[in-house]
Amino acid sequence: MNDNSSESRKPTDLAAIRQSIRDHSLWPEDGCVTRLLRNLELTGGARHRAVAVAKGLVEGARARRDERPFLDAFLQEFGLSNQEGIALMCIAEALLRIPDDETADRLIAEQLAGADWSAHAGKSESLFVNASTWGLMLTGGILDLDPSIKSDAAGWLRTLTRKAGEPVVRLAVRRAMRIIGGEFVVGRTIEEALGRSGAEKTLALCSFDMLGEGARTQHHAERYLASYEHAIDAIGRAAKGRAPHEASSISIKLSALESRYTLMQRDRVLGRLLPRVRMLAERAAAAGIQLTIDAEEADRLDLSLDVIEALSRDTATRSWPGLGLALQAYGKRALDVIDWVGAVARTTGRRLAVRLVKGAYWDSEIKRAQERGLDGYPVHTRKVTTDVSYLACAGRLFGHLDVIYPQFATHNAHTIAAILELAPAGALYEFQRLHGMGGLLYAEAIRQITDFPPVRTYAPVGEHKDLLAYLVRRLLENGANTSFVNRFMDDKVPVEEIVRDPVSELERLQAAQNPLLPNPIALYPDRRNSPGIDLGNPA
Ligand SMILES: Cc1cc2nc3c(=O)[nH]c(=O)nc-3n(C[C@H](O)[C@H](O)[C@H](O)COP(=O)(O)OP(=O)(O)OC[C@H]3O[C@@H](n4cnc5c(N)ncnc54)[C@H](O)[C@@H]3O)c2cc1C
Repeated sequence: MNDNSSESRKPTDLAAIRQSIRDHSLWPEDGCVTRLLRNLELTGGARHRAVAVAKGLVEGARARRDERPFLDAFLQEFGLSNQEGIALMCIAEALLRIPDDETADRLIAEQLAGADWSAHAGKSESLFVNASTWGLMLTGGILDLDPSIKSDAAGWLRTLTRKAGEPVVRLAVRRAMRIIGGEFVVGRTIEEALGRSGAEKTLALCSFDMLGEGARTQHHAERYLASYEHAIDAIGRAAKGRAPHEASSISIKLSALESRYTLMQRDRVLGRLLPRVRMLAERAAAAGIQLTIDAEEADRLDLSLDVIEALSRDTATRSWPGLGLALQAYGKRALDVIDWVGAVARTTGRRLAVRLVKGAYWDSEIKRAQERGLDGYPVHTRKVTTDVSYLACAGRLFGHLDVIYPQFATHNAHTIAAILELAPAGALYEFQRLHGMGGLLYAEAIRQITDFPPVRTYAPVGEHKDLLAYLVRRLLENGANTSFVNRFMDDKVPVEEIVRDPVSELERLQAAQNPLLPNPIALYPDRRNSPGIDLGNPA
């Protein structure tokens, strides 16, 4: 395979670029890294400055820790590196999947009893995170709170199951999950969310996400479709005629709109899903707001590009600059996809928006590739490669400013600082963060850096029952010890360790592929893994 393919093909040859995207799907990591480093547009001086600016942001945020929102504090205290964080994660995940109360009760009891909650008592300055407050959250109005709990939260929690009975504990834990979950959503309805957006300065510019994904039935898909339609109209009214990039917008998931959204069902998807998305895009265009298609699992990428190309060819919305897609930098195909987006925009004579993310499904991508015994992974296997890929992609996006509006979604101080270095003078672009996360970091960036670009908040809207999948993703992502948000407020970790130049780190590595992650087909030392089929690649 030719790793120079992007350099040799014609910039508007859509078929050739699609072929490169497919060819690079499970590309060996050595080739990826060589290409990323070759395409990086960050000079030595700029790299130096990015590190210095990022350190300033972390130090500034640490100095203002009192203003830290609940979630930042919560995730730092209950990360995946301790048993209690894992217990919470298991409970959230279990409630998502266990249909019967009895099994849910037993799992909750086991998770609560096994953990050492007292280890967290008084550790965090956040009132919420304190173990006694956690007890209060658990019980809410259901149980009377014994004053002795404050001194022995652990003992209380251990005996809670025995004393109160399992149904009460189940209710209490569900309630606790709802409180945590409530921190991630801006409202249960779009009206409530728009009300907050109008009243709170940091929520003035939002991309609303009507919670819901992975529709299991056509009935689900129709329900999500109706909620998207309703939200587009409401957001459009609130935009009051502002240009799409200056007003709040909507994010949608294709998996919410079609219960059989897989490549194997391509014809069905294009026949049934496409008219639904086209209708939503036309509605968003008429309302004058932006509509972004979220990025989901890697084996859905090829199919989603078909959908995006078809939407881009819709002449009814050609003059609307609001059609957008999210792109995952951890994917080995990311650079090719940017070229493809640029080519689609030029071929169809329209402007598109691209939200660059690192990617939220890393663990499951690795697991799925291993299950399938594939020849390689669709995602990078080292965090530092994803960081560098993000910067290479950012540079590539800035190369298409005539047809692409870039939107950089990250909570990493170094990534923010490096984007500022990469941005050409006068470039129009924005940053994005998730509601409940990164607030302190961006407040600090806006305080320290003159003319900081606009910051849009991705704002989930919905009821608790639709929240859990999103919540589990956030807990997984932020609890991971490689995650920037999980560590940057921890005084025990020196700033130099949090903020490092990923480029020099990547250059220093002996092998591009993480030695802990041999190719899925070579997973076992004593035998070949059973080979499977990559059902996301039409080739
Ligand atoms: C506004 C907004 C919208 C979003 N929309 C989407 C979306 O549509 N689709 C989606 O998938 N995600 C989406 N996300 C989630 C996003 O992917 C994560 O928030 C993001 O990856 C975290 O990156 P960071 O720069 O903030 O943090 P960092 O801590 O710097 O990076 C963490 C990321 O690094 C990557 N990573 C971790 N370990 C490894 C490893 N061993 N090898 C390779 N890579 C690794 C993962 O992508 C992980 O999420 C969105 C996020 C925001 C802020």
